[in-house]
This record gives sequence, C-alpha cells and structure tokens, in this order.
Amino acid sequence: MNVFFDVDYTILAMDGSLRPRTHEVFQEIKDRGHDLYIWSGVGLRHAEVRQHKLEPYVSDIFVKPLGKFETALTTLRIPVTPDFVIDDYPEIVYAFGGFAVKAYYLPNLLDRELDKVLQAILDFAAEGHSSDPGYCAKHNPS
Ligand SMILES: [Mg+2]
Repeated sequence: MNVFFDVDYTILAMDGSLRPRTHEVFQEIKDRGHDLYIWSGVGLRHAEVRQHKLEPYVSDIFVKPLGKFETALTTLRIPVTPDFVIDDYPEIVYAFGGFAVKAYYLPNLLDRELDKVLQAILDFAAEGHSSDPGYCAKHNPS
C-alpha cells in the first residue's frame, strides 16, 4: 500500500519535536512491504525529514492538497495514489481513507497514538478495515 503521513501535529509537535514511536512505526510499515510518503499542506518538508533522520523510510515527499481532493492528485502532480492517509485533519482522511490521529501539539513522551495507527494499517492491509475509532474508510465523491 501507499501510506501517506501528514507532518504538523501528526508526527511533529508545535516545537518541531518528533512524536514518540515515529521511527519504530515507520520501520515496521517498511518491513511489511508498504511504501511510505510524507506530504504537508505548507510545502515540501525535506528539511524536517532530514532533521529527524526519516529519509531511510520515506519513498517521496509531496505537497498535500487542502481541498478539491478528487482532482488534487493531478493538480499537484502526485504520481502515487494514497491507499491510507494519516492526518490530524479529518477531511483528508475522509476523502482518501485512513486514520484521523489525535493532534500532537505538545511534546508528550507517553503518547502512543502511532502504535494505534500501525495496528490500523496492518488490519486494513489484511482485512480491508480496522475497528479502531480513528480509522475512516474512503468516501467516494457524490
Ligand atoms: Mg497536520
């Protein structure tokens, strides 16, 4: 699957620190044979990916659409179709399907939200759905 992660408040706190379990969860996603992408509504986040040493896991980095999701992949020249998106902004999760995370604003070493994300990815890959309340199926535009 193509797994797309948002940056701000999904894997980074307001102070730019990395959410707990990011490395472990990214590694496991790769080990399971999935491709991992980073996208952000405020631009290309190569610097942050490099700063937190996430390059080994990340296949590519894109600008994230903030609306018009049906046409956005073409408009923004994103050559990969997201199968599972992880974001603190529920609208994009609703559009593509994935997991709406609890926003990570302040550093919290006890945060384990990304473990739930990993489980939902594994469940979705195996069964096509997840029972976690954070999981949201893709909704086709009407
Ligand atoms: Mg965000």
